[in-house]
Amino acid sequence: MILERLVVVRRYLYRQLAAGDEELLSRDGIAAYLKRINSQEVELRVTERDAARAQRLLESSPQLVEEWRDPIECPNCRSADPAPRPPYVLMGAAIGFIFSAVLIARGYSADGAAVALLTVAVGFVLWPRVARWQCRACGATYATPRAR
Ligand SMILES: [Zn+2]
Repeated sequence: MILERLVVVRRYLYRQLAAGDEELLSRDGIAAYLKRINSQEVELRVTERDAARAQRLLESSPQLVEEWRDPIECPNCRSADPAPRPPYVLMGAAIGFIFSAVLIARGYSADGAAVALLTVAVGFVLWPRVARWQCRACGATYATPRAR
């Protein structure tokens, strides 16, 4: 087998997001290779020869990827290279639910239910407000993309 140079045609935050694209390319006879680039991100690579065709195919496919690509432009310096921050809201919610489960287990069902409801309500309010991204270039943190 002749080794060909591979070029990156798309990056994914999670391996699972790449499955559809990999299939799309292989249906068209393009060999796609997935390469893990760190603990969770993967890159979709094709041979140089197939790169242009692969790009066209990918552009025509509706992308799950856009969902995470959207929030990545830094509102401060417009760099598109953020690092995901720990999900503080989810961690807080987990503590709320554990507390609620403990209350229910001890017989305080009404209090437990109230805590669970409150946890959902607070999480719902905080989720879009807490910074989920940190820019690698300037260090700014942000939750939502800059309005375009
Ligand atoms: Zn920045």
